[in-house]
Amino acid sequence: MQFTDLKAQYAALKGEIDTRIQRVLDHGQYIMGPEVQELEQVLAAYTGARHCVTVASGTEALLVSLMALGVGPGDEVITSPFTFAATAEVVVLLGAKPVFVDIEPDTCNINASLVEAHITPRTRAIMPVSLYGQCADMAALNAIAARHGLPVVEDAAQSFGALYRGRRSTHLSTIGCTSFFPSKPLGCYGDGGALFTDDDALAQAAREIRVHGQSARYRHTRVGVGGRMDTLQCAVVLAKWGRFEWELQRRAALGERYTQAIANSARLQRAGVRPVTIRPERRSVFGQYTVFAPQRQVLQEALQAQGIPTAIHYPIPMHRQLAYALECCPDCCPVADEAARTVLSLPMSADLSQADQDRVIAALEQACA
Ligand SMILES: *Cc1c(COP(=O)(O)O)cnc(C)c1O
Repeated sequence: MQFTDLKAQYAALKGEIDTRIQRVLDHGQYIMGPEVQELEQVLAAYTGARHCVTVASGTEALLVSLMALGVGPGDEVITSPFTFAATAEVVVLLGAKPVFVDIEPDTCNINASLVEAHITPRTRAIMPVSLYGQCADMAALNAIAARHGLPVVEDAAQSFGALYRGRRSTHLSTIGCTSFFPSKPLGCYGDGGALFTDDDALAQAAREIRVHGQSARYRHTRVGVGGRMDTLQCAVVLAKWGRFEWELQRRAALGERYTQAIANSARLQRAGVRPVTIRPERRSVFGQYTVFAPQRQVLQEALQAQGIPTAIHYPIPMHRQLAYALECCPDCCPVADEAARTVLSLPMSADLSQADQDRVIAALEQACA
């Protein structure tokens, strides 16, 4: 069993993917070829955002977004400590300081009610993470940001396709950033990412920053990066696009099935296994299907023995990482600390079969006996 089954996905899409790749090889425009703009138009239309700017990775999307917003030395960016390192990394790379605000115990997303107390005159942005494919409390975060005149950058690397009050993740705030890393809900066959915004000036800045700050060829009006997404990777995403809605439905169905199975199992209930909560008015894409499991190590080893892969997202929160602890107090985020001790992600992808999912659930129940 695969944790994320990309081989089955390729088998289902081989015709489209091979054709799309061959077309790029034939026209030879490997950088900024026609597929780049085609993908940007498709994704902008899907999310409802005025602009989609593809970039080299999800990390690059976050970096370019903060650069477009002018985040720099001495600035502070409020974010979640319970995330992949890239979220905090880009802040530090720009000379700014990540200010970690603790998470909600049931969703593992940033706790919006704690954010305002962390705003200082140096705060330049709020950067929530839509963890495991579910958006954070964006309405509350946007309201706080508006009161303080701050932009909100959504790290939607795990949540492309998710809904929040009927709107798409990446189109919920000033800028939304996503990743096309192969195992994300919408993946390419290498690195890729995109940022989304309704703001014309920010979109223009991002387009310039991704090509070394050029406003025209060899006119460098600002400092940028080499941050383009290459044509072949855009072609792969385009080839997968026709199946994406079906994949989201499969993910939703499998997520619901996991949740029901856990709720219906007296053994799992007794062992304290419970899924991450999905709030009303939000539709998760289950970038990960994650449960809280007090006996995590026992379960993980029992599943491993049956050939069932699991993962921990994440074992060490950012405020405990050597590179990111900074001046942050070590005990500032106790809820994130607790989550790091108990979260366990189960196999999840659109091509996970119900039979394999049943094996996962049976193995979990056995381990809790
Ligand atoms: C994957 C991920 C990123 C980074 O995306 P890459 O495309 O790998 O650079 C950033 N933030 C979160 C929350 C992620 O899961």
